[in-house]
Parts: sequence; C-alpha cells; structure tokens
Amino acid sequence: MKAARIHQYNKPVVLEDIPVPDIQPDEILVNVTACGMCRSDVQLVDGYFRPYADIAPPITIGHEIVGVVHKIGSTVPKSAGFAEGDHVVVCPGWGDGTCRHCQVGNTQICPNVRWPGFGEYGGFAEFVPVPARYLIKVDKRLKFEELAPLTDAGVTPYRGIKKLRDAGALGANRVMAVFGVGGLGLYAVQYAKLLGGGAKVVAIARNREKLAIAKEYGADHIISTQGKSAGDVAAELKDATGQPDLDAIIDCAGAEETVKLALGLLSISGQYADVGLAGDRIDVPLFPRVSREQVIHGSFWGNYTDISEVLALMAEGKIRHTLKSFPFDQINEQLNLLRTGDIVGRAVMTF
Ligand SMILES: [Zn+2]
Repeated sequence: MKAARIHQYNKPVVLEDIPVPDIQPDEILVNVTACGMCRSDVQLVDGYFRPYADIAPPITIGHEIVGVVHKIGSTVPKSAGFAEGDHVVVCPGWGDGTCRHCQVGNTQICPNVRWPGFGEYGGFAEFVPVPARYLIKVDKRLKFEELAPLTDAGVTPYRGIKKLRDAGALGANRVMAVFGVGGLGLYAVQYAKLLGGGAKVVAIARNREKLAIAKEYGADHIISTQGKSAGDVAAELKDATGQPDLDAIIDCAGAEETVKLALGLLSISGQYADVGLAGDRIDVPLFPRVSREQVIHGSFWGNYTDISEVLALMAEGKIRHTLKSFPFDQINEQLNLLRTGDIVGRAVMTF
C-alpha cells in the first residue's frame, strides 16, 4: 500500500509502498478514503514534539482519518454493529481503557495514550488498523473530505469552547474571542455562535482573507492585528462591542504573541482556553491573573463523545467547511504550504 512516512526528522516525508498491516483481534482494518493535514503533522516532521515524545521513525503521518471498513477482527463484538463497507470516522487518542481518565471517557489524556499518525500507522496511507471502539460509523451520504477534519480541527475548538461554557464564561452580555482563524479557528467561530448562549463573538487574527471567512461564518466582529499594538486592538474592540476586554477566549493559534495579547485583553474573572500550539512556551504575568481571578483552561483534542457531537452537528447541516482536497503524491508540497501559513481552512488528502 501507499504510505507517507518520516524516515528522518526535518526532511521531506517519503512516499513509498509498504505491506498492508495486519490487525489485532480487537481491531478493524480501515481503507482510508481521506485524511486531513494538520499543523501538528508539520510540527512532527520538524521535530517540535521530540522533547516530549521522541518517536522513532519510520512514522506514518496523518491523524484526521476517515475510510471504509475493510476487515473486522475476530473478537470485535457483533453488537458493535460494524460490517465491511461501512463508512467510519477514526477517533484518535487511543487510551489504555483502564486509567481514571479513560474510565470517564477522556481517552485522549490517558497517560498510556497511542495516536494514529504518531507511530507506525497513520492516515496518510491506504490502510490503517484501528481498535474497533475508536471507530464511529457514519451515514454514507456524508462527504469523506468534510468528515476528516472533524476528528481534530473540527473537534479541538469544540471541546475548548465546551469547557468555557461549562465553566460559566459564556452567555448574554459577554464577549468571546476566537484568536487565530486557520484550520481550527474557522470551526471555532461557528461553535462560539452555537454554544455561546448569546455571547458576542469576535475573531481576532492577522490574515484579512481568513478573517473575511470568519465573518461569513457568523463572527459578529473581526479585528486584524496586522501592524497594531495591544492598545489599538483594545480600542477597536471597545468600538465594536462596547467593552475593551474579553470575557472568554479560545486561542486557536497559541503563538507567543497571540497568547500575550489574549491574556492582556482578558477581563476580570475572564476565562481563556488554549488549543493552539504554534508557540512553545508562554510568559504570563502572575499578579493580574491572581488579582483578577482569571482562569486558564488546558484543552486537548477531543474524546469520542466530543467527536460524536460535532458529527451530529454536521449531519444536521450546522457546520460549514473551508476545504481543499489534494492527491497523495502532493503531501510534501502541502506540508510546505501549511508550514508557511499559506493554506486557507483545511487541506485534505483524498485517495
Ligand atoms: Zn487510560
């Protein structure tokens, strides 16, 4: 089968033919039909994660995976309801199933978690073995290329915004901002409107072309940070919303400068959720955070339930996608475009 693999970090991935993998008895072999490309694919190639998990090559990249059931393992229970030919979405974040995080469904933060696309098997390959309990069967009328990004780009901001909502940061007479309007941010704007309880939604980013799409997707206001100081942004925010600060923030960029700007604009008792990883570390002044009782939420990817919820929203036609599809042999070109920020929305590889 075709597979795109890292053989050496900081080099182009190698497009090659390798054997179709075997499956364990509790797994299903998925014939991949589409796989979204994520900034973390670029970061993996570039060695960003090596201080945290130095995965030994070869690594098959790609974790936003959808496909068709090809072969079912011998111990997959009949009650799971899978049949060959079913269309399935792969929930990443395969926990050990025994720790307390797994027991409450948060398998993506299991200390023994495994990820497709960060080891031997991944979605930029024609086949991937997946534990059956991490597959969700979907309606055959849904488009593969629209389903793929929902397993990361389309679920990660959803979980972050649910955290803000559940912690009481959203609602009427609040202002919520989405920082960064790349692959994740364009979904975040839509969830902010769906889950915000009437909060005004402001998209804040540099790129005006991407901001225009955020406006089309429901942002009440857009602010470009291009060439502006934090004071300029606060003034523009006040003009647009009547207040110079933000009650809730979902940061889909996570670059050092966006984190600094975002936390500087956070209101008294404001809440901030970071789901972006463009930067590597942050420098947060302590006194304002303590004296203003601000909350910083960590929010990582999404679990099976989160993914089921965004799939349900998609099936109801409530999610809009900005996508471009590309063939397998263009993987390195697309990685380069993503590295330089030159992809609008999500690029999805289709077989
Ligand atoms: Zn676990």
